[in-house]
Amino acid sequence: PEKTLAMIKPDAVQANYTSAIRQIILSEGFHILDEKLAHLDDVAVKSFYREHAERSFFPSLIRFMTSAPVYAMILEREEAVKKWRTLMGPTDSNKARIEAPNSIRAKFGIDGQQNCVHGSDSPEAAVREISTFFRVLQES
Ligand code: ATP
Ligand code: MG
Repeated sequence: PEKTLAMIKPDAVQANYTSAIRQIILSEGFHILDEKLAHLDDVAVKSFYREHAERSFFPSLIRFMTSAPVYAMILEREEAVKKWRTLMGPTDSNKARIEAPNSIRAKFGIDGQQNCVHGSDSPEAAVREISTFFRVLQES
């Protein structure tokens, strides 16, 4: 089955939503292959979100993502990338509360930046992102 990188962002780790979000993930049929708490620094966030380097919100995004630890997880199930992004909901938590009220961002996110979770946007991104948090991943 496919793998994806899920991350609980600083807002949700700080608000103690980690175990609630983890439970939803498991109840939706994902297996958590590995998981870890990590405190990202500027260099790590700039690399992780390099596709957004020219956006006006980038400096603010770096401050947010380095403000507290994140909780990274390798998720596995069929169509993991797509299924996890659907379960997260739209990027903006306020939009999520209207368009996808059962999504994780609707339930635990604050706004368009502090949106509680991240998910890889393609299988290729998943491989790259998993390797930034977890050194060795056994093939299955
Ligand atoms: P992620 O990559 O974190 O899974 P996403 O793919 O839904 O989220 P992206 O467009 O990749 O959204 O944006 C990456 C992150 O940058 C968002 O999750 C959010 O935290 C932040 N962000 C995106 N757009 C904005 C914005 N307009 N204003 C402030 N922050 C934003
Ligand atoms: Mg993205």
